[in-house]
Amino acid sequence: MSAVTVQNLVKTYASGGRRATDDVSLEVADGEFLVLVGPSGCGKTTLLRMVAGLETPDSGRVSIGGRDVTDLPARERGLSMVFQSYAIFPHMRVRQNIGFGLTMRKVPRDEFDRRVARAAELLRLTDYLDRYPAQLSGGQRQRVAVARAIVVDAAVLLMDEPLSNLDALLRLQFRAELKRIVSQLGTTTLYVTHDQAEAMSLGDRVAVMRDGRVAQLGPPLSVYDRPSDRFVGGFLGSPPMNFLTARVRDGLLAIGDASLPAPDQLSTWDGRDVVVGVRAENIQVSAQARPGWLPARVEVVEPTGAALLLTVRLGDEQLKVQAPTTFQATPDQPLHLYAPQDSLRFYDPETSLALP
Ligand code: ATP
Repeated sequence: MSAVTVQNLVKTYASGGRRATDDVSLEVADGEFLVLVGPSGCGKTTLLRMVAGLETPDSGRVSIGGRDVTDLPARERGLSMVFQSYAIFPHMRVRQNIGFGLTMRKVPRDEFDRRVARAAELLRLTDYLDRYPAQLSGGQRQRVAVARAIVVDAAVLLMDEPLSNLDALLRLQFRAELKRIVSQLGTTTLYVTHDQAEAMSLGDRVAVMRDGRVAQLGPPLSVYDRPSDRFVGGFLGSPPMNFLTARVRDGLLAIGDASLPAPDQLSTWDGRDVVVGVRAENIQVSAQARPGWLPARVEVVEPTGAALLLTVRLGDEQLKVQAPTTFQATPDQPLHLYAPQDSLRFYDPETSLALP
């Protein structure tokens, strides 16, 4: 068993002032891939480093496999790590780089060969074992760093932005490979990224962090579909969730000059404003007026290849809408919008929290 539990972790850097992590508690289940994601400075790396034993918390506990490791040094925690600056050794061949942790543990020669061969195979590095790092591409070097981390069969794998040195295409390819490898190994993994697409793609669950706290934790699609607050809805997804202000009145939801039936969820909000959240892909478009559809106007048309991303004006609000490529759209053209009621999310305009 290798679940990772962090309880009430608080960390303030001497020069920092504000708390880098502010009472964070979470659990990575045995064999789970949990992604910490959030904007720069939200405390992801600090949290990971406290799990690793590279940073000492002001207060709170870390346990691994049910054992309290808070006071243990990094090397006694049974972890393996991959960092953004994946320092592989330039003077060692790929084979020795991958097997470095095994050499340190004085693993016998035949076992060394067997384990390095397996890690190399998983990372498609078998043909490169006799090369030096300088003879590899950036993506291959990154794979060596990951192979080196998995070869030791640690109970827990920690990764901090391991793909950030790769260009966009390689990053996308290696992301899928990493997903395959980690699911094959079944190692408990805690992974840090600021890239929401990476978090969505890799995580069994994602923890969206903000200002040293976990804003929401859950399976990626459920966090994406039901953000617990406006920050999460605005952070996850490309484009971010649309937010518009609407007034609830007499069972209707008024947006600008148009109105829709208000769902029962808003029955106690009569006479007040709410914020409506809706994803670009849940908004349907029509060139013709239809009953119950909202009149709007196209401002910008951006083909993404798979779809058209439209920026549209609805009353005082601007929103992003994903239309099929077959939709004829030009700037300034009127159009009509519809979003099924079950795709609408509602937020308190004062607290920004999702309404119950
Ligand atoms: P990024 O994605 O930019 O790496 P992050 O979410 O990983 O950001 P952290 O690196 O954990 O964030 O930083 C959290 C906060 O702690 C930030 O405000 C940062 O400036 C501060 N911080 C981090 N490391 C130190 C340090 N060694 N000394 C002082 N302050 C630090």
